[in-house]
Amino acid sequence: MFGRAPRKSSNNTKYYEILGVSKDANPDELKKAYKKAAFKYHPDKGGNPEKFKEVSQAYEVLNDPEKREIYDKYGEDALKEGMGGPSHNPFDIFESFFGGGAFGGDSSRGRRQKQGDDVVHSLKVSLEDLYNGTSKKLSLSRNVICSKCKGKGSKSGTSGTCYGCRGTGFKVSTRHIGLGMIQQMQHVCNDCGGSGQVISEKDKCTQCKGNKISPEKKVVEVHVEKGMQHGQKIVFEGQADEAPDTITGDIVFVLQLKDHPKFKRKHDDLYIEHSLTLTEALCGFQFALTHLDGRQLLIKSNPGEVIKPGQYKAINDEGMPQYQRPIMRGRLYIHFNVEFPDGGLISTDQCRTLEKILPRKPSNQASQMDLDECEETTLNDVNMEEEMRRKHHQQQQEAYDEDEDDSAPRVQCAQQ
Ligand SMILES: [Zn+2]
Ligand SMILES: [Zn+2]
Repeated sequence: MFGRAPRKSSNNTKYYEILGVSKDANPDELKKAYKKAAFKYHPDKGGNPEKFKEVSQAYEVLNDPEKREIYDKYGEDALKEGMGGPSHNPFDIFESFFGGGAFGGDSSRGRRQKQGDDVVHSLKVSLEDLYNGTSKKLSLSRNVICSKCKGKGSKSGTSGTCYGCRGTGFKVSTRHIGLGMIQQMQHVCNDCGGSGQVISEKDKCTQCKGNKISPEKKVVEVHVEKGMQHGQKIVFEGQADEAPDTITGDIVFVLQLKDHPKFKRKHDDLYIEHSLTLTEALCGFQFALTHLDGRQLLIKSNPGEVIKPGQYKAINDEGMPQYQRPIMRGRLYIHFNVEFPDGGLISTDQCRTLEKILPRKPSNQASQMDLDECEETTLNDVNMEEEMRRKHHQQQQEAYDEDEDDSAPRVQCAQQ
């Protein structure tokens, strides 16, 4: 395998190896090899479903002279690109050899089964719900197989073969795509909706009117467990809409955490903001906090401790319970904001008193002479947010002016 001919050298022996036949095997040999392998790997006999699929794919391609030729020439990839590749349900192929009840009993797997869609709902929960755990009853409507006709759709329990698709459920159209290759397009038959069967008007089931399914109200109880996360899924397997020959999908609830006015959650930890007056920050504080389960926590400073603006403190084991290990809890973090007194509240006398208590001002008496020689300045009040917004707008305006055609007269942005 040298040179650059990927198409030619792509794997075009795998299918023969899977079936254990030579490259010039005739249809009879293929059939025999397939039967042997399919029986061995059939999942109903405890075989390997992947192997079973491979065997079916290999047989499907090699048994079709047209597909086999493409496979021999160009390999598996060409089939995938050009012909839509192996498309049949492996159980259908198996059934065409052995019939539906190959292993005795009514094997429902033998029939063409589609995977039904999952139904996804979002479920709003509060932080209290996730802290304490809760269960919510929800009423949903879904389709179930009609109880009267057991999903047959007819009174007689039978149906006629669809004329439009001759019972296959599909209509096939072919299209030439050059190089002697044709592309096959399969669409679901619109006469029978893909079932391959039609029911005459007077034979239709009176309960479902031939639809085979009927709507049902269902109440589900969703258990929200302690410590679950925003975005976590709670799955009710196989409880979504039922349909004939379809594996019922799941109902999935996705938790959506509502904002909490007091607590924020990060993983298993909780955060709150708390404002202290300057006096509390310096001289100590205590306050009561109502936790998510209604308990009142007394939160107080350590004796003699000063809290700085923006400082965090943590209380162990008062965070969120861990999912499936609710005895373990994260931490509760408190982020302190210190509210300083507004200007003008402190008189000169009070300042003297404060100066006696608080750490001394930087000693600049020695350099008083130097300060006297400095230029005087004025501190103005400023709203920084407003300031930044104005500056940003100004920059944009200038960038816009530069982008304009050079021949156009320049308009200077008016200075305020
Ligand atoms: Zn049809
Ligand atoms: Zn019915």
